[in-house]
Amino acid sequence: MSDAIRFEDQVVIVTGAGGGLGRAHALLFARHGAKVVVNDLGGSTHGEGANASAADKVVEEIRAFGGTAVANHDSVTDGDKIVQTALDHFGRIDVLVNNAGILRDKSFHKMEDADWDLVYRVHVEGAYKTTHAAWPHLREQNFGRVIFTSSTSGIYGNFGQSNYGMAKLGLYGLTRTLAIEGRKNNILVNAIAPTGATRMTEGLIPPQVFEQLKPELVSPLVVYLGSAACQDTGGLYEVGGGWVGKVRWERSLGAGFDPKAGFSPEDVAAQWQRICDFEGAAHPADNVEALKEMMANLQKYAL
Ligand code: NAD
Repeated sequence: MSDAIRFEDQVVIVTGAGGGLGRAHALLFARHGAKVVVNDLGGSTHGEGANASAADKVVEEIRAFGGTAVANHDSVTDGDKIVQTALDHFGRIDVLVNNAGILRDKSFHKMEDADWDLVYRVHVEGAYKTTHAAWPHLREQNFGRVIFTSSTSGIYGNFGQSNYGMAKLGLYGLTRTLAIEGRKNNILVNAIAPTGATRMTEGLIPPQVFEQLKPELVSPLVVYLGSAACQDTGGLYEVGGGWVGKVRWERSLGAGFDPKAGFSPEDVAAQWQRICDFEGAAHPADNVEALKEMMANLQKYAL
């Protein structure tokens, strides 16, 4: 049995916490003693409208069991205002869960600029604005935990979700760099790719499976990643239905050609099987490791 994970005197922001996964995260953080800023604009799944009651209801739920929470109704695109709510009410910010999201699904040939832009704005710009506003405070106190919400639609692709997939894998790129930049200030940054029964996935998942994919089955991972107990950074975790697994990049050992002699498209074709052979594949953890095979190839053909 590991030590209890507690957040007494710590402040957690969960964006898009008026329903679905964010609500479950906010409730679990509060049950573990955190003071929670429950942010939600309260619009539709497609990003239309606004309604303060979504966040307010979750705050009421938290207060009903003796927890501490305050609502914020700004859009994540005004993330500085969300961080300001944490500072105004609780005087600090320790954990940020970037969870707010919308869908504007369309096959690519029907995609309109507005669908592309809005999905980018909420997921990527919203996460950027909120994290950027929190960052100086996390650096100053030499502690912070940031969680981004990615998706299997970004990792693997999904029909009709070019805008969403772009945004969701973009957030993993952001995770990787912030993990590097945050490490020296004990700011650890991780991403999740969740699956849960919410209004976003209703009708997309068969009903008998949908019932079992409770949002509450995602939150324990998020609360762990938000805690001081977690010492990992830059990770990407698929989670849902009571299961958690870590994702990493894999790259084939590849094929080398003589850089001085040059090589032709036909040479590439001749080596294609080897280029795509994952036998004994590498799992580069950073840029330096990623460049190792390339450097070895230069050395191999050096004078
Ligand atoms: P949801 O629609 O229930 O929750 C999203 C919440 O974000 C809503 O309450 C919405 O009002 C809020 N929101 C939307 N735009 C906002 C804005 N501009 N500012 C503030 N709040 C805003 O859906 P969910 O399934 O709980 O989604 C939560 C996150 O998980 C999203 O980022 C989503 O893309 C991601 N996700 C969900 C699944 C899944 O299986 N449910 C899968 C992969 C990724």
